[in-house]
Amino acid sequence: MDVRAGIDLGGTKILAVVVDGQHTVLADAKRPTPRDGGPEAVAAEIVETLLEATTSAKVDTKDLAGVGVGSPGAVDEEAGTVAHARNLPDWEKTFALADVLSDRIGAPVKVGNDVQVAVDAEFELGAGRPYSSFLGVFWGTGVGGGLILERKPWLGRGSAGEFGHMVIVRGGARCGCGRRGCIEAYAGRASMEGRARRAVEKGQKTELFEIMEAGGRDRLTSGVWAKALSRGDSLAVRLVERAVAALAAGIASAINLLDLEAVVIGGGLGTRLGPDYAKQIEDAMLPHLFVPERPPAVRIAQLGDLGGAIGASLLVANGSGG
Ligand SMILES: [Zn+2]
Repeated sequence: MDVRAGIDLGGTKILAVVVDGQHTVLADAKRPTPRDGGPEAVAAEIVETLLEATTSAKVDTKDLAGVGVGSPGAVDEEAGTVAHARNLPDWEKTFALADVLSDRIGAPVKVGNDVQVAVDAEFELGAGRPYSSFLGVFWGTGVGGGLILERKPWLGRGSAGEFGHMVIVRGGARCGCGRRGCIEAYAGRASMEGRARRAVEKGQKTELFEIMEAGGRDRLTSGVWAKALSRGDSLAVRLVERAVAALAAGIASAINLLDLEAVVIGGGLGTRLGPDYAKQIEDAMLPHLFVPERPPAVRIAQLGDLGGAIGASLLVANGSGG
């Protein structure tokens, strides 16, 4: 039995799935990402999350055909290492994540780029299946992207797909990457939260932070934004409109350059806000298209929250280990 596991390592949470040979999810588990303790603490928490999933799937980790990990930062797939993972605690230096995990788990481990594995999952199993070319846009804490061209992932020289850092406003808002005017500076949830906090300091009224506290959160999660929108909170509405406009401008520019068949929108905000907002992005994109009579299909990522973890499991499914 070809039972594998996939881990989606994110800045706020670690998600684990156990899947069978048909990619059916047998069990999943979720734990918060440690805020300190560096890569060692994160690796230990990955193991705990995996054990929670394997226990509920009634599988021993030693019997797993392999474990794939989708990680942020600079990933070296060959070496199984991760460096410069800015959303993770004290993770600047290169850390041998695959080796460390493999020692503890007793199964082979492969590490891939978190966004690219999610795009691969949508291509092989989800909304991207009908298309030979598409752009995956992952709208969450940051804004990630990935490309499929002629049925293959396009990695460029290793760092292609940084959709969130396409420049839409010269000299515009400050981005988490330190530059100005990137899409992520307008549409990334972290940037949106920063903007909301500054607006409140200036006396703006909003329910965003009350909803956050009532939910026992200390950040504006996708669920908090969704609830504020459903209540018609004017600051939330305005900031999401601004994000939609930024995403639409970037998507249209990518389409003008590459003439892709489709755009697949995922990520925490993308999946939580769903088809209504995908439609808003599509409508806002159309005026920017150079060839408007043949727009790309705009789809919501089908694999939802588990897409990243399922995509990570594909790292070991595709026989790349041997
Ligand atoms: Zn940037």
